[in-house]
Amino acid sequence: GAENGGNHHNNNVAFSFEFFPPRAEGMAKVLELIERMVAYSPTFCDITWRASSGDVSLDIANRMQNSIGIETMMHLTCAEMPVEEIDRALDTIKSGGVQNVLALRGDPPIGQDKFVQIQDGYSSALDLVKHMRSKYGDYFGITVAGYPEAHPDVIGDDGVATPEDYQKDLAYLKQKVDAGADLIITQLFYDTDIFLKFVDDCRQIGITCPIVPGILTITNYRSFRKMTGLCKTKIPADILAALEPIKDNNEAVKAYGIHLGTEMCKKIMAHGIRTLHLYTMNRDESALAILKNLGVIEVSKIPAPLKQQEQKAIQEE
Ligand code: FAD
Repeated sequence: GAENGGNHHNNNVAFSFEFFPPRAEGMAKVLELIERMVAYSPTFCDITWRASSGDVSLDIANRMQNSIGIETMMHLTCAEMPVEEIDRALDTIKSGGVQNVLALRGDPPIGQDKFVQIQDGYSSALDLVKHMRSKYGDYFGITVAGYPEAHPDVIGDDGVATPEDYQKDLAYLKQKVDAGADLIITQLFYDTDIFLKFVDDCRQIGITCPIVPGILTITNYRSFRKMTGLCKTKIPADILAALEPIKDNNEAVKAYGIHLGTEMCKKIMAHGIRTLHLYTMNRDESALAILKNLGVIEVSKIPAPLKQQEQKAIQEE
C-alpha cells in the first residue's frame, strides 16, 4: 500500500502526485498527463473527490491502477454521501484493485460555512475511517488529512487558531489515526517552520505514522491568493514581498514558485522527512521542476506546454 513508502529514488525520497477530475472534454488529456508523470516513478498517485463528480474519480482511479499501472489512492468525502453511496464507491474501487483511500469529511457546499451531515451520512472523517475499518477490515490503506495550522474551522479572523483549538485539532487527528489511519497528508502551507513544528507536536502526543507534507507550488498570483484565502494559510511576509512586484508576470511568478517550492522541500528533507506530496493541479511543469532541482528525478526533456484550450479543459475545476 501507499503507506509503505514504496520504491525509493536517487535521494531516498518518495513522492506522490495528486490530480483532480477534469471536465469531460479534458479526460484524455488528464490520463495522458498522469501517464507522463508516472514515468518518473512516484510512489503513488491520487485523485480527488467531490460527490458531484464521483463517477469520474472512480473511473480515473480504476484507470490509474489498472491501465496506467500506478499504486492509486482515491479521495472520498462524507459530504453529500449516504453510507450506501460510500460503500458503492468503496466496492467499486475494491473490485478494481485500488487499495488506498484518503478519508475526508469534505467541505460545506459553497455559500454555506458549516458542514451539515446528511441523513444516513457521516459528519467527520473519523466516522468514515471507523466505518471503513469495520466494514472492509484491513483491505484499504487509509490516509487522513492533517492541518499544520489547525483546520480552517477554528482559525480566527486574526489568521491563527488559539493554542487550545490547535491542541484539540491535534488530539482529533490522533483519534483518526487510532481509528485506523496509516498515513497523514497535510494541508498546503508556506511557512515550513509551522509544518516542522506540527510534525513535532504530532510526535509529542503519540502520533507515529508517516506525516507527508502537501506541497502546492505557486503558479499564478491570483489563484495563490484565492487558495490561501480559502484555506486560511499563513503567508510569510518575505513571500508576499517577493511576489508583490512580479504578480502580473506569470512566468516570473511560476519561476519564483519553483524556487520557493524547492527551498521548502530542501528544508523539510534536511529534517529527515523523505516523503513529498505534490498537489499538481493537473500541471506537470512545476512539480517536475522541483523534483529535478532536488535531484530526486532526472528530467531529460521538459514537456511542451499545453495549448491554451487544452489547459482550460483539464486545469479548471
Ligand atoms: P475532519 O477530520 O472530519 O475534521 C474537520 C474539523 O472538525 C476539524 O476541525 C476537526 O478538528 C473537527 N472535528 C470533527 N470531528 C470532531 C470530533 N469528533 N471531535 C473534535 N473535533 C472534531 N475536500 C474535498 O471535497 N475533496 C477532496 O478530494 C479533498 N482532498 C483533500 C486532501 C487533503 C490532503 C486535505 C488536507 C484536504 C482535502 N480536502 C478535500 C478538504 C477537506 O475536505 C476539508 O478540509 C474539510 O473541511 C475537512 O475534512 P477533514 O477530513 O479534515 O475533516
